[in-house]
Amino acid sequence: MAKTVIAGNWKMHGLKADLDVIGAVAAGVSDCPESIEVLLCLPATLVAAGAELASGSKLEIGGQSCHQAGKGAHTGDISAEMLADAGATHVIVGHSERRADHGESDIQAAAQAGAAIAAGLTPIICVGETLEERDSGQALDVVTKQVAGSVPDAAATTPVIVAYEPVWAIGTGRTPTPEQIAEVHAAIRVALAERFPATGSLIPLLYGGSMKPGNAAEILAVDDVNGGLIGGASLKAEDFLAIYAAAANQTS
Ligand code: PEP
Repeated sequence: MAKTVIAGNWKMHGLKADLDVIGAVAAGVSDCPESIEVLLCLPATLVAAGAELASGSKLEIGGQSCHQAGKGAHTGDISAEMLADAGATHVIVGHSERRADHGESDIQAAAQAGAAIAAGLTPIICVGETLEERDSGQALDVVTKQVAGSVPDAAATTPVIVAYEPVWAIGTGRTPTPEQIAEVHAAIRVALAERFPATGSLIPLLYGGSMKPGNAAEILAVDDVNGGLIGGASLKAEDFLAIYAAAANQTS
């Protein structure tokens, strides 16, 4: 059985003044069972302070991207080792906003995931179709191709997380139907189980895209949904904790 993962993505939001949210979330997940992992992926500037605040609690801290190289002349980038050194345990790679804003490809996402694993981080590898791709009936093809290209071979032996995030659902308030989510998650699960016979069924598959307290329970109940990657609703402790509570209810 794959673990349940409730992960927040603060994107380019958050100043030192917002760190009280971390303390509130850490306090709110003190009863978190072993079967659930809760984390917040912070902007790089807050990772060290966030990790310090979360230290000793059940809340973990992640980064939002890393370079595929270990170190070098890459002005403005951050390495996986730097994130680990700052106290991160996870890092998002291949997010659709990185793919759109920075032209990142499946190959880069896989290399970044490999760099994350080498640094001892768990990569959260994002995939998802655009609205045009969904409307033209290509969603399953696009997503399974992204999974094949973005998940590194190291997933055969090392923990990774995959997040299905339809681009048209991110930050829009629109969500796919439970049937649409189930169809894509089932296809991802089959692809992973075929490629990684020993570990494919254990890889947590998260849904991401306008998940909020009001729809979390329904989405988390969908087959092969093992948690959520949550953007906007992770910025407020109350909303994020309500989503965590929905997950905790389903695993208890
Ligand atoms: C995300 O950024 O990964 C995301 C899912 O955002 P939102 O929840 O705001 O749609």
